[in-house]
Amino acid sequence: MSEFLQAKDNRKILHVDIDAFYAQVEMRDNPALRKVPLGIGRDPDKHHGHGVIATANYVARKAGVHSAMGSIEAKRACPDLVFVAPDFDKYRRISGQIHAIFHEFTDTIEPVALDEAYLDVTENKMAAPTLAAQLRHRIWQETKLTCSVGVSYNKVLAKLGSEHHKPNGVTVIPHELAEDFMLKLPIKDFRGVGKKTLLKFEKLGVKDGRDLKAMSLDDLRVYFGSFGDVLYWQARATHFSPVKDRSVRQSVGKESTFELAIHDRQAVEAAFKDLAEKVVANMQKKKLLGRTLTVKIRDDDFKTQTKGLTLAGTFDLDPAFMTRQAMLIFDEAYPEDFSVRLLGLTFSNIIEQKYEAVSLFDQF
Ligand SMILES: [Mg+2]
Repeated sequence: MSEFLQAKDNRKILHVDIDAFYAQVEMRDNPALRKVPLGIGRDPDKHHGHGVIATANYVARKAGVHSAMGSIEAKRACPDLVFVAPDFDKYRRISGQIHAIFHEFTDTIEPVALDEAYLDVTENKMAAPTLAAQLRHRIWQETKLTCSVGVSYNKVLAKLGSEHHKPNGVTVIPHELAEDFMLKLPIKDFRGVGKKTLLKFEKLGVKDGRDLKAMSLDDLRVYFGSFGDVLYWQARATHFSPVKDRSVRQSVGKESTFELAIHDRQAVEAAFKDLAEKVVANMQKKKLLGRTLTVKIRDDDFKTQTKGLTLAGTFDLDPAFMTRQAMLIFDEAYPEDFSVRLLGLTFSNIIEQKYEAVSLFDQF
């Protein structure tokens, strides 16, 4: 067993993430935006108070603006915030340029978002940090955009690396530093730890990787279900999920619209449960698994919210679990009164089940 683990640890993985992608593109194309707090999203004053911030530049972030924040809230935090509506066609074009550059380095690429991907460069003879430097240079040359890169032997560490020195930085986490890096890591920075998980950890007195590592696998499973396994291995700087080539398809999902708006939380839960069962049946039939679960909610005045949850591994195809996740997102979106016209549940980041079964640790 340990020999197998060691063998699979012998990889060179890069995680590449363009810094504040949409905002950086707009600042590149209009330098007057560089020094002002910039939010990519619709101006609430021009859109009846609607709009969500897709990305903010670093000036706006300092003022407390962050992505997924409602535009009104963002404006409250930062009254001078300049809004620019997103131009997704442009971002997709640039994303294509960036992906072409990735392919100069390896063909084993797992896209995570338009501006973010894992690259397995194990086969490349050059040292991974040198490759990271060259990649950053090529992206700058072609697009005049900066990115952050993490370099390590697995995806979780590579991703943590790219987040470590943002923006415009490189962080290399070799074997000999990995354990120490994870011990010091605040618990909120572990992959998949959101608000609710954080709250549980607070109650348990778990503050960082060191505290987490002290917990047994059994205890972690009791508190966090199958996510306990993910946490257990993360604390040990161990993660064997391969860099997966492009997904077999975009998404599998289902939506329900309601003739009469729903106002009752229990009815929402029942609707999500019904959707989850249908989506799971469809995934089973097609023998697929997904890493991202997206919830879509449209209310009575046609405001649509979509929120996704992405795991380092794939979701268990469990309607009860999906329903719980959907309700967490729903409760965050509508803490009080609501009037819902449409609900949707969609899996994206899809892979085939047979592919997942290849590796013992893929479920993480
Ligand atoms: Mg980015």
